Amino acid sequence: SHALTIENLKKIYENRFEALKGVSLSVEEGDFFALLGANGAGKSTLIGIITSLVTKTAGHVEIFGHDIDKDFSAAKRLIGLVPQEFNFNVFEPVEEILVNQAGYFGIPRKTGFERAEQYLSQLGLWDKRRCQARELSGGMKRRLMIARALVHRPRLLILDEPTAGVDIEIRRSMWVFLRELNKNGTTIILTTHYLEEAESLCRNIAIIDEGKLVEQSSMKNLLSQL
Ligand code: ADP
Ligand code: ADP
Repeated sequence: SHALTIENLKKIYENRFEALKGVSLSVEEGDFFALLGANGAGKSTLIGIITSLVTKTAGHVEIFGHDIDKDFSAAKRLIGLVPQEFNFNVFEPVEEILVNQAGYFGIPRKTGFERAEQYLSQLGLWDKRRCQARELSGGMKRRLMIARALVHRPRLLILDEPTAGVDIEIRRSMWVFLRELNKNGTTIILTTHYLEEAESLCRNIAIIDEGKLVEQSSMKNLLSQL
């Protein structure tokens, strides 16, 4: 079965810029999938539409069979998003950010605290649980965003340039964490412009260029063409 199905997706921004020109692709449940493309290719626009943060101009999107137009809240619960930009309240303590996010999905505070403990420990942030988010380093903030995206236990995790600007050691520890998460059944889609990152993590890839899908294949197949 499919975690994500996209058919003929188009996006024209208000200034008439055509950011997506009819993209179709699908991601299997359990996959670790990379969306590759240069800056400006349309990756963030695509992710914005899947997560209902950006309205589409045309096309069809399904998350585990739920049409995002007809079944918006079901689709949203199944997705965890790690956006590129930090968008949490930097004055809030780390643990509270997670518990409040759980609350946003209707999860009781007690369960929220248990999950906060689980993910903060796994991501090496447990000693920082009482710190305000602004006290964290860039790499720690990224890991906090991953923990926040997981607190409602989504079946599909989407990360937009998850390791941009993160130093190599932290990047590798994030890779280990994501591999383990995928092994335990979470479907993962990430955007990156580092081929090395996609190569190290992903089984399947799509490449977009100027709003068009130019390739969808296995990582193995792509590498054999280089
Ligand atoms: P990527 O994530 O691959 O770097 P984006 O989806 O952010 O690409 O952007 C694709 C194109 O759409 C870029 O040319 C960008 O300038 C343009 N774009 C993005 N957001 C807007 C917007 N709100 N209004 C107009 N153009 C936009
Ligand atoms: P609403 O749908 O009520 O307008 P927002 O889209 O403003 O809510 O999101 C509220 C909070 O939930 C923000 O912290 C946002 O980053 C987060 N969020 C939204 N959608 C998701 C998602 N699919 N997965 C994880 N966090 C999400």
